[in-house]
Amino acid sequence: MKVVDLNCHWLRCPLEASRQHVSDFGRIQWFDGVLVEIMAEDGSVGYGEAKPAVGSAGDASGIVSIIRNELRPLIVGSSAFDIGRNWGRMHNGVRAPLAERFGRAMPILGRRGVHASAIAGVDLALWDLAAKARGMSVLAMLGGACRDRIPAYASGGWAPVDRIGEELGHYASAGFCAVKMRVGAMDGSVEKSLARVAAARRSLGPDCALMVDAHGTMNVAEARRFVARAAEFSLAFVEEPVLSDDRAGLSMVRAHSPVAIAAGESEASSADFAELIRAEAIDVLQPDLAIAGGLSEGLRIAALAFAHRLALAPHCWGSAISFQAARTLAFASPAGTYVEVPMGGAPLLREMAKVDFRLEGGALAPPTGLGFGVEIDPEFVRRYTHGD
Ligand SMILES: [Mg+2]
Repeated sequence: MKVVDLNCHWLRCPLEASRQHVSDFGRIQWFDGVLVEIMAEDGSVGYGEAKPAVGSAGDASGIVSIIRNELRPLIVGSSAFDIGRNWGRMHNGVRAPLAERFGRAMPILGRRGVHASAIAGVDLALWDLAAKARGMSVLAMLGGACRDRIPAYASGGWAPVDRIGEELGHYASAGFCAVKMRVGAMDGSVEKSLARVAAARRSLGPDCALMVDAHGTMNVAEARRFVARAAEFSLAFVEEPVLSDDRAGLSMVRAHSPVAIAAGESEASSADFAELIRAEAIDVLQPDLAIAGGLSEGLRIAALAFAHRLALAPHCWGSAISFQAARTLAFASPAGTYVEVPMGGAPLLREMAKVDFRLEGGALAPPTGLGFGVEIDPEFVRRYTHGD
């Protein structure tokens, strides 16, 4: 079955004031993403997502241009079932035949950054399309689920010390048994971050899993001080205590940390995760499937996690498509431990399509439906398409 067309739309959703949050990224007023559509000759459509930024807001014009001008000509006319080969065509460009022949990646310039994200968007759409065409879910195509349910954690926690307990308490009363809060540069000092974490733990009690995310904003000395003193609060993991580009720094933090270290949401490839593992810098791998090359690359990253006895907890801060893809991967991989559920304003996640967020014992059921199980609301897409 041939691919007959490929297109994408930059979706930009304004967030009303009550749904905006403030972190080290500033006040979040927009939620941006790129919706990718691949059409097959039988009329079926696969949906993918590419992300212009790791958080909510970012300019997606570069991704749109790459998909329409560079990737579209490589994919239209190909077999919709050749997902691996199409990934190689996008990654290796004019050297794809050589890469196929020698079994080695020979990428053109776009190995990372928005180019990797553009490839991710097309790859996710190809998986969705191929599963739909076979009348099954992507999870079934991957061999089915490795577990009955996957724990979910509520991701938010921006409130100051006197209100953080209440904010996280709302998540717990919504059924979550695990919650994540932000710390780091936005607090102004390690002591203030620790005071907020102490208040959070006091309020949550001992049974709710608590994680923290510093968005890579501490230096090594601060991070080491933080993880040493945060141990008493029984954290499930500390995410990006320092910038993950600083492999050596992250490795130094981990070497002295009594708490697991998570990272990877802005990495672009399995090669990046292999580097983090080689540097002994990471316990929990957090690929974002709309940034790191799609599900094809996500499967390679999940295999790295399993082979090294590390955990996989995909980063989810995007649309319903990358969320359902991450949920699929966390169910399909034996290394899957958690799925992230954003608690900030996220219209692309909660309004563009219907997603089953029901929790049982703090855990999600496997995705249902064909492909990734995402049925896009065309009116939503019309309303929020930006820059076309
Ligand atoms: Mg994060």
